[in-house]
Amino acid sequence: MSSFANLKRGRSDLAKLTKAIEATSQPAEAGSKDDTRFWQPEVDKAGNGMAVIRFLPAPAADGDDALPWVRVFSHGFQGPGGWFIDNCLTTVNEKCPVCEHNSTLWNSGIEANKEIARKQKRRLNYIANVYVVSDPSNPENEGQIRIYKFGKKIFDKITEAMNPEFADETPVNPFDMWEGANFKLKIRNVEGYRNYDKSEFAEKSALLDGDDAKLEALWKQEHSLKEFLEPKHFKAYDLLKTRLDKVLGFEGDVAPKSKAIDAVVENFHDAELAALDTKIAVSEDDDDLNYFKSLAQ
Ligand SMILES: [Zn+2]
Repeated sequence: MSSFANLKRGRSDLAKLTKAIEATSQPAEAGSKDDTRFWQPEVDKAGNGMAVIRFLPAPAADGDDALPWVRVFSHGFQGPGGWFIDNCLTTVNEKCPVCEHNSTLWNSGIEANKEIARKQKRRLNYIANVYVVSDPSNPENEGQIRIYKFGKKIFDKITEAMNPEFADETPVNPFDMWEGANFKLKIRNVEGYRNYDKSEFAEKSALLDGDDAKLEALWKQEHSLKEFLEPKHFKAYDLLKTRLDKVLGFEGDVAPKSKAIDAVVENFHDAELAALDTKIAVSEDDDDLNYFKSLAQ
């Protein structure tokens, strides 16, 4: 447990957060559909939606060194043998059979293989605690602490707030309860995909009028984020490998393909993975939910 006094004293530690963003490493993934702790903004039939949330500091339960978010990689794609939808083991710094396979495909230099690697690449999501300030579609969520899972686009907005582009803008720590800012989520439907470009932070303001007693109570109610890195959220390498072989239609033909993969992929490092992500990056606009919805259709 970290103490509330420490939280208030150390809250402007932007350097720590920035460093964590820059580091190519860690965190987690979770199945969110049936988990009532999760919150998602709702969109109307036209695909438009709006809500106001406040990102919260790292939960008391996660200790002093915790960050206000965790990162989770996952894979979601269809092969001849069915769907592969699972968390990626690189989230917890372990070898992932899908990422290894993608690396082999990419390094083959064959364009068709590269295309498959793009389709199967790991996707990054972030998980954070938010206070729901305004949720016009579901007002019963207002005033609640929920977990919000979001993609790169929204995380970029957070990073921009912390490191503004222009000299006349003041850096804001969006996770600060006293001097942070509400986040206005504005969702539009652009060519069939959820688009968050219009979302923005509001002016700096104290959450709950800066009432320390209320804020401390709120903070202590936050959900643990470290939980999403626990082994229960990840299948073992061999299980994932078996599933991958099935999805790719390698069953009965496992030996030769596996050997080929093993020959190319020996040591897998985060830096290589990050480089691979950059190389095979397609549009990062895709919202995870949206993405899986499109998969299911
Ligand atoms: Zn992976």
